Amino acid sequence: MRAFNFSAGPAMLPESVMRKAHAEFLDWDHSGMSVMEVSHRSKEYMAVAHRMEATLREVMAIPDNYKVLFTHGGASLQFSAIPLNLTQAGDSADYFNTGVWSDKAMTEAKRYIQVNEVCKDENSIPAESTWQFSKDAKYVHICQNETITGVEFQEVPKTDKIIVADFSSTILSRPINVSDYGVIYAGAQKNIGPAGLCIVIVREDLIGHARPETPKLLNWATYNDNESMFNTPATFSWYLAGLVFEWIKEVGGVEAIGQINQRKAQKLYDLIDASNLYYNEVDPAVRSWMNVTFKFKNHDLEDAFLKESKAAGFLSLKGHKAYGGMRASIYNAMPEEGVDALVEFLKAFEAKNA
Ligand SMILES: *Cc1c(COP(=O)(O)O)cnc(C)c1O
Repeated sequence: MRAFNFSAGPAMLPESVMRKAHAEFLDWDHSGMSVMEVSHRSKEYMAVAHRMEATLREVMAIPDNYKVLFTHGGASLQFSAIPLNLTQAGDSADYFNTGVWSDKAMTEAKRYIQVNEVCKDENSIPAESTWQFSKDAKYVHICQNETITGVEFQEVPKTDKIIVADFSSTILSRPINVSDYGVIYAGAQKNIGPAGLCIVIVREDLIGHARPETPKLLNWATYNDNESMFNTPATFSWYLAGLVFEWIKEVGGVEAIGQINQRKAQKLYDLIDASNLYYNEVDPAVRSWMNVTFKFKNHDLEDAFLKESKAAGFLSLKGHKAYGGMRASIYNAMPEEGVDALVEFLKAFEAKNA
């Protein structure tokens, strides 16, 4: 019996994917081995790697002039890789500061460059009229979806600079136009697959200009020149990510998934907005489809809520300690029935505690 797991990451994976991986866990592709036990350089594994990339390119409609790199170190290591690959000493870049993950990216970038804050707010994306871009910035960084508060860009910010976007908690959740961005990066453990893999989608002309001191495994050119196999990749994570990409195709692609995701989020926000017990602090114009946060007008009920929701099979609803309250992370793999069941539970809990 699988629970509805609302964890922000590592997060739920599609059940059919887990079943397929389970079925071939010990004997993969009639090889007599697990996919974890085969050489990453073998013909069979290379086929897995190539198919995974091709499927991702297809579902995201990634143009040919973009390279897809499969990197180590999660999304967080890209916080360093970005300035190292895109700037030289003395350069600067513009960062939108919309929450904890933006802030972490900025803190790391400050080791290498001058960081200019375009705007700052954790519950909204401030009005365009207040944005302060700097003239010489080499790129503009955004966190497309702030996982902790649930603030998501609904439009691509207008700028003629390269946009570098942290898509960790929203990649593949709806259609996007890849060419609006110079770099898209995402850790795998929210919408892609098991932890251990990060995906970096880079316009090809942005590769090959890293600072000379850049560590080999932070240099995008190293991944690009070696099919992301300069050293041993996270083979099992790659394999499972490939199964998830195929699942996305089977369920109708990111268009279909986007419609389901929007509906799932709307059901929760509608309930929260109509409630006398729960509230959400995020500007409705930029509320996340992936991470729905809510707080209690009566904080004393939090512990009882967590206990009762867990007993009813709704797991990991506690919000991040930096923000408080509750958070329902409803990535692609969370079925709509899970959201419907949570809505019913929230209603019943409110009725009981009115
Ligand atoms: C989870 C998350 C990260 C960190 O990912 P790691 O793979 O743990 O480094 C970065 N940015 C966002 C928006 C996230 O949600």
